[in-house]
Amino acid sequence: MINEKRPVKLAPIQKNCLWGREDWMLSWQHEGFEGIPLLIKIITAREALSIQVHPGNEIAWEMEGGNGKTEMWFVLDCEPGACLYYGLKHRISQNEFCKRIQNGTILEICRRVPVRKGDVFYIPAGLIHAIGKGITVAEVQQSSDITYRVYDYDREDADHQKRPLHIEKAARAAGFLPPLAGHHPMGERMQKNGYSRTLLVQCPYFVVQYYEIEKCMEGNVKDSFQSLLVLDGEGCLESVTGNLTLSKGESIFLPKGMGTYRLAGGLQILISEVSTDEFKVWNRRPACHNGSGPGSLKSGNYTGGDFRRGGLCEKPE
Ligand SMILES: [Zn+2]
Repeated sequence: MINEKRPVKLAPIQKNCLWGREDWMLSWQHEGFEGIPLLIKIITAREALSIQVHPGNEIAWEMEGGNGKTEMWFVLDCEPGACLYYGLKHRISQNEFCKRIQNGTILEICRRVPVRKGDVFYIPAGLIHAIGKGITVAEVQQSSDITYRVYDYDREDADHQKRPLHIEKAARAAGFLPPLAGHHPMGERMQKNGYSRTLLVQCPYFVVQYYEIEKCMEGNVKDSFQSLLVLDGEGCLESVTGNLTLSKGESIFLPKGMGTYRLAGGLQILISEVSTDEFKVWNRRPACHNGSGPGSLKSGNYTGGDFRRGGLCEKPE
């Protein structure tokens, strides 16, 4: 399926969680997509998610034998007064970090941020974060399920068990600085003929853009596949290999090399792709392999807003 040069509509894979629900819109669990490098979800949080951190590639390969996770959120909806946790308030030591996980006071030093529809949060590996109660986001991330939990509100599951915290692993994976970036799109809204485009996040792993289509737009699928997530509206996708109707909540996969296409209608769409140019640039940097360069994941090197953090070493040497 993934090799054909035609657009494919993907049925969401629903997951019910302790705190709400996830709809996996593009994932390795979709048949024929086992090796897909991105995981795209819609997350509906009835309750707050645990405070967590994800490792970057280098540490993830060393400790877990898999990819690390950099992710981004685009806020689709939220209750009045909704907040989430995004990074630390100030720099702390690794020692303080571990103590605060152990004695349950880590929340005191996490930045609590009020949320509005349309906010964009870029979460490089190493940044402490948690989605709050009453928030719905579209999430784009590296294909990885490695999460280190540092606080879980003392919740218990149906069997009265608390979910484990991962103190030592989190201490290795975490940076101990606040995020340097704000929670806005990385690019300006660009008004074009018939549509507008806003760059939400560009990082070594993915590029996510938000399109508001009033009449139509033309796209091209070249070096990376594209994932189209229809956030609102109705319309259609036309390409030489097939046409599809589009409506709110649908996920459409356009395979690499599919060529030009046209979107028509009144649509709000999230288009995600793999960041191929960034990969090429980054892979030329020799420091990537010795653990001391800009691609290193050593905690002390953490620079928060540097979205190249994490490097692109597929496996540490
Ligand atoms: Zn996360």
